[in-house]
Parts: sequence; structure tokens; C-alpha cells
Amino acid sequence: MPSIAFDNSYARLPARFFARLDPQPVAEPRLIRLNLPLAQELGLDPQALAGPDGVAMLAGNRMPAGAEPIAQAYAGHQFGGFVPQLGDGRAHLLGEVVDRAGRRRDIQLKGSGRTPFSRMGDGRAALGPVLREYIVSEAMAALGVPTSRALAAVATGETVWRETPLPGAVLTRVASSHIRVGTFQYFAVRGDTEALRILCEHARDRHYPEAETPLDFLRAACAAQARLVAQWMGLGFIHGVMNTDNCHVGGETIDYGPCAFMDAYHPETVFSSIDSYGRYAYVNQPQIAAWNLAQLASCLLPLIDPDEEAAIAAATEVVHGFAPEYQARWLERFAGKLGIGSPRPEDGELVTALLALMDRQGADFTRSFRGLADGSARAEFAAPDAFDAWQADWRARLAQEGREAGALAAALRAANPAFIPRNHRVEQAIAAASAGDFGPFERLVTVLACPFEDQPEAADLMASPEPHEVVEATFCGT
Ligand code: AMP
Ligand code: MG
Repeated sequence: MPSIAFDNSYARLPARFFARLDPQPVAEPRLIRLNLPLAQELGLDPQALAGPDGVAMLAGNRMPAGAEPIAQAYAGHQFGGFVPQLGDGRAHLLGEVVDRAGRRRDIQLKGSGRTPFSRMGDGRAALGPVLREYIVSEAMAALGVPTSRALAAVATGETVWRETPLPGAVLTRVASSHIRVGTFQYFAVRGDTEALRILCEHARDRHYPEAETPLDFLRAACAAQARLVAQWMGLGFIHGVMNTDNCHVGGETIDYGPCAFMDAYHPETVFSSIDSYGRYAYVNQPQIAAWNLAQLASCLLPLIDPDEEAAIAAATEVVHGFAPEYQARWLERFAGKLGIGSPRPEDGELVTALLALMDRQGADFTRSFRGLADGSARAEFAAPDAFDAWQADWRARLAQEGREAGALAAALRAANPAFIPRNHRVEQAIAAASAGDFGPFERLVTVLACPFEDQPEAADLMASPEPHEVVEATFCGT
């Protein structure tokens, strides 16, 4: 078996935080892809992982020494409705390792079988959603967004039944923790203040060691979410299921389900087939994050102050701080995308003017911004006169900063990726893989590892979908 230096701090928490159990073995594990750089970052031996014992581990068939598999307990608001018990219904946290940079990382299998939290589910994952999470989470990491990672994808040789029979797979997910707003809600709804205190200290130690009080912890979690959602917005990323159980208190993107990137910029865009009312539309994401943080705040009240009114007042002030914090991060991001190094409040208008143009003309979000560096942005606008007028204002603003042209172009290219996982390409890669051809998946992952580099041989991956390629809806695959 691969030798892994596990140190499982979550499994040392009280028994009511999780259920201990092994993953359920699968019929015929076969490695689809191993993430070599990530394995190395974690201090794991890639050769051992890719060997038969390693693949058996990544499929959940055999546990290496030191693993202490658990399914974590959590609750959550799903589309606004509270569910007091969700938990890992198809995931097993094998344990934690301290990586080469000294950071503690969870190693978790997803799709690894039933647990006491499975409810009606089969505990399994289909190949499509596993590949989608692999592609998109790794792309997000390369784009510089805090995110869970994909260490490996393994085919199970088993069939999972959704609307149709589908090939099964297991994803190995790596994250700085799997502590969600919903983890706090699980104990809050049970009135278990002792557990809340233990959880808060544990999460503090892992994510915000500088936080001295639960209120500091809340403030840090709010700041991290504000930064995260501003990054999503700057990439046209739509998470799709921003339920509180999918909201990571450390500020990482987790639980990639029906997520997608916008092609043409329209703020009301929704992809998720289960989001009938557009609750988690692109433009709503900041408000939803604030709402999720208000749920976290409400869980923390008994830890913040024994006097409930004082606790509410303090927590409310912190949650109200989210909006200005987010605005500041948003401005930083989008001004950066315009090549502005020292944003001023008025720059927000320059940004929104460009976004309004893009919305009206259906311009491609990613290519329009990328094209600012080399003058090709204009071609993204069906009626370029309006863009020319905007561009004159933009140039005037840049002239005030007086950046040298080469430095400006470099800054623009570093802030605006050439490549994102375009939804139709993700779907095509999944379709090909489901038919046994993993070539498009491999190519997509390889190109998206360097999203800020020009890769002329991959120009097709920058293109918008042809009408017949447009993906209208994405599915959770649960
Ligand atoms: P998700 O929509 O993936 O965030 O999952 C929401 C909840 O449903 C979590 O508690 C999951 O563990 C559970 N769940 C999702 N899919 C399955 C499945 N196939 N089997 C068991 N539980 C599942
Ligand atoms: Mg989830």
C-alpha cells in the first residue's frame, strides 16, 4: 500500500461529529487520471498511487495504514429550506496529511459507497459528474481560485442508475477541510453548544489561527467568502448549488455539482437544472453568500456572548460588513481585469459600463476581457461603436496611471484567462469519456492547467459553442 503519513485531527473530535466506516469496495477499479503535481505537493508517491494497491485505495477497496475513514455529519439549507441532517452520504474522509508547504489537507473519496447519511441515495457517483468536478476544480486552482482539488479519478467498473444506467466512478478530493456552514448548523439545531465550541476552535486552528474569538472567526470567514465570490464573479463562474452545506468556512470552492462558466455575459444566467427559480444565478451569488454567512453567524451566537442581544448585535455588525467587503474585493478584481493597478471608487462605473455593453450585445465574457490585452476585444461586440466609446474612456483612465505598454499588457493577460472550462467542451469531454475515449478529457485538463498562456493549438477551446453545442442545463448527477 502507498505509505501515507496521516494525521487525522477531525477523527479525534467527539464521536458525534461523524460516523466511522470503511468505503464500500467496487468491482473493477481502473485509474482514469492521477494528478501528479498535486500528489507531489502532498508528499505522496505518485508511482505507488498509480500502482494496483494505490488504485485500490483510490477506489475505496483497501485502506492504507493510518487512514481512519469517516463520514462527516452536517446539516444545511438546501434552496432555502433547512434539512437538519445531511452529512456525507457518498463520501469518506480517509484522513489528513500535512503537505510539503506545511498545510493540513483532507483526503476524501467521493462516490465511495453508502453511509449512515445516505438517506435514499446509493452512495455512488457517475463518471460524468466526477470528470466535471475533476476538470472544473483543477481549472479553478490554475485560475488562482481557492478550491478543493482533484487528486484522482477512478472508474469503478460498476453501473450506477440515475435516469439511465451510467458508468460509476470515484473522485479523490483534497481540501483544506470539509467544514461547512452546515456543519455548524448540525450542532446549532441540536442545541449542542459544547460541540459548537469544539468545532469553532478546530475550524479556527485550521483556517484562521489568528482569530482570537468566535466573532473574529466569523469576520475572517466573511472576508474569505467575499474574496472568493469576487473571484467567481471575475471569471463568470456560477457555482449552481450555493446551499449552506456547500459553503466552506475556510473560503474554498467546494461541491462542484451543476456548476458552469458563462460564455456570453448575462448576469441572470442560471445553468442548474434543479434551480428552477434562479436562486443561484450568477448575479445573486454575493447576496446568497451573505445569507449563508448570516446562518453561520446565527449558529455562533452562543459562543459570541452569553448575553443573546449583545451577541446578535455583534454578529449582525459583522455580517453587515460583508457587503462593503465584497464591493471592495469586486472592485479590486474587475479594475485589475481592466489593467488598473490602484482602483478608485469611480472605476466601478467604468467596469459596469463595459459589463452593460457586454450584456446588451451578448459579448463573450472571457474573450472580451482577454482581448483587452491585444486589441481583439472589439471583435466580440456586434455593434462596436459603443465599445469604441467605452474604450476611449478606458484609455483615458489608464493614461492617468501611466503604466508602460508592455507592463500593462502583461497585467491584463495575468488578470484575464484565455481558457476557462467552457461548458460545451466539458460536456463533450464527458460524452466522449462515457463512450470510452478519454482523449478530450485529458486534453481539456492539460490545456486548463495553464489558462493564462496563449496556446494557439487549443484555439478551439476558446471558442463559443456553435448553436448545436449550447448547453442549456447542467445536472447535479446525484
Ligand atoms: P450535494 O447536492 O452533492 O451537495 O449533496 C447533498 C446531500 O446529498 C449530501 O448529504 C450528499 O452526501 C447527499 N448525496 C448526494 N448524492 C448522493 C448519493 N448518490 N448517495 C447518497 N447520498 C447522496
Ligand atoms: Mg454538498
